[in-house]
Amino acid sequence: MSLRRLWHHGKLVLAIVALFVGMGEWQASQAAIARGGKNPHITWYVKTRQKVVALTFDDGPWKSSTPHILHILMDNHAVATFFVTGEQVRRNPQIVQQEIRDKMEVGNHTYAHINLAQHSYAEDVADIQKANQIIKEATGKTPTLLRTPYGTYNDTVIKAAQATHLHLVMWSWTEDTQDWSNPGVETIVSRVLTHIQPGDIVLFHDGGSNRTQTIKALPVILKDLTLRGYRFVTVSELIKMH
Ligand SMILES: [Zn+2]
Repeated sequence: MSLRRLWHHGKLVLAIVALFVGMGEWQASQAAIARGGKNPHITWYVKTRQKVVALTFDDGPWKSSTPHILHILMDNHAVATFFVTGEQVRRNPQIVQQEIRDKMEVGNHTYAHINLAQHSYAEDVADIQKANQIIKEATGKTPTLLRTPYGTYNDTVIKAAQATHLHLVMWSWTEDTQDWSNPGVETIVSRVLTHIQPGDIVLFHDGGSNRTQTIKALPVILKDLTLRGYRFVTVSELIKMH
């Protein structure tokens, strides 16, 4: 082999090596997309090989959307977890009762949708307990899970959750639909399906404003994930699979 050909051959080898290094980096970056934070008191997702996901809906129950969402879930043999506010349960107790009858889980999302991290420990405990009490009166069940409005937390919030015997649950960072901003049905669908992994917790809203896009996206998501072999579980069921 001439020196010149050897030189070209060497460049080809280098190019192939660079390609593999590049692919390796790309794969590493794909794997490194963070799914949640690291705090032993908070669940963002659950590490499991079982093909399960937990769908969650915040801010309800709402008359104009929650019954539709329950209907779609039942049609697709799926369960979900509803993080309800005490105020909304007081307005719509019959809807939260329907959630329980349909085997959904009901979690605490505070009484007045307050930012717990901006209040005192005593205020946090009082608000959380007020929501718990209204949910218990409406459903006969005391929640075991708390999702904080705006996803905020600090040491005070963690202590208030412990004092009220509630486990803090957020959502997988790759599974935030931001459906509250009405980004379009296709965007909501792709935000769920693009990065979904076993053990993910998906964030939707069944209250706050018009949820037509969420209602249209949900059957598409349920059917796609079912075809891929996923089962739908409540957050408490998911946590037990840890
Ligand atoms: Zn909320």
